[in-house]
Amino acid sequence: MPLDAINAHLRRELDGLKAAGLYKAERRIETPQNTGIAVAGRDVVNFCANNYLGLANHPDIVAAAFEGLKTWGYGLSSVRFICGTQDIHKQAERQVADFFGKGDTILYISAFDANGGLFEPLLGEADAVLSDELNHASIIDGVRLCKAKRFRYKHNDMADLRAKLEEAKGCRFKLIFTDSVFSMDGDLAKLPDICALADEYGAAVGIDDCHATGHLGATGRGAAEELGVLDRIDVITGTLGKTLGGASGGFTVSSAEVVDWLRNRSRPYLFSNSVPPALVAAGMKAFELAATATDLRATLKANTARLRGGLEAAGFTVKPGPTPILPVMLGDAALATRMADELLKRGIYCIGFSFPVVPQGQARIRLQVSAAHTTEQIDQAVAAFTEVGRLVGAIR
Ligand SMILES: *Cc1c(COP(=O)(O)O)cnc(C)c1O
Repeated sequence: MPLDAINAHLRRELDGLKAAGLYKAERRIETPQNTGIAVAGRDVVNFCANNYLGLANHPDIVAAAFEGLKTWGYGLSSVRFICGTQDIHKQAERQVADFFGKGDTILYISAFDANGGLFEPLLGEADAVLSDELNHASIIDGVRLCKAKRFRYKHNDMADLRAKLEEAKGCRFKLIFTDSVFSMDGDLAKLPDICALADEYGAAVGIDDCHATGHLGATGRGAAEELGVLDRIDVITGTLGKTLGGASGGFTVSSAEVVDWLRNRSRPYLFSNSVPPALVAAGMKAFELAATATDLRATLKANTARLRGGLEAAGFTVKPGPTPILPVMLGDAALATRMADELLKRGIYCIGFSFPVVPQGQARIRLQVSAAHTTEQIDQAVAAFTEVGRLVGAIR
């Protein structure tokens, strides 16, 4: 049996992961997603969901999903261009395009697909794509699929981006593409500088706004709004799976021409099923809520400041940044894992990240704040971190 040999090989590989502390075991959550969840029979406060505005399971979004299901059915049994496009898909695409003030939007099953299907249709051998070295896996994969010349610039390093733009000078089209928020560090791409360089060298600019759309920017238009360059951004990819309700669905926003071309040539769109109407209806409600969620964004900011302040006062090093992602820097991988385990015992659910997800020697616990966290939950986290930090010797 050929599979026996493969299985034996994989058992050895999996044992290797476990020995190196790199094996990913999944904790089981016994409740719907929220800031308060149950894990292994224990009530814990969740600090690792991408539920920034607390819209996951928001009653209006759940109601919109039910309504979408009732009105438009469960599924289309078709890709979009055969018989998988309903009015609701077109309405949602218009709504998202208007939200960002761009020409059109194309929906995907996920943002992974949006990124995976973006570069190959747009860029050919004569073109260049310039990509931040810390970009999300889906961007890396998408770029791999295209024939354009690839330039990987050092993270947020404008001198290096300029050097790469110089190298790419002879290329027909140049596209700079970056995560707008880098999820392991909580920092923003230097979009104003990137846009200035793009102007200088005649390049287009695209961002993956997955960790920003809905909660960053004065009106939730994401990192580009936060940094004042939304008008200059040519392509935006994003997800319905984080701030915007937390289920799934992805999108690419750009000019009408780019989107029309993607509808005709983007392989994850052409060869994968239509987004189910319940998700589309819920996504539309999520965008509607996010557009007016000034109060939730203010609460998110206040909660983030409270947690950061409490941790810093206790002696922890929290990477600076303007997002609700708080990387508590610990250095040692075993220390990060042990702290996360001890925190769980005290009712705080968070995860330690170590190499290869982050650089060697920069292990950390990444906390993600939600507008739905109560001040009691945040204070509970600070108290637990302080106690556990002393216990394991991370702070004095
Ligand atoms: C989460 C994430 C994705 C993937 O989004 P899905 O809709 O879950 O596929 C892509 N890019 C970035 C930067 C992300 O954080």
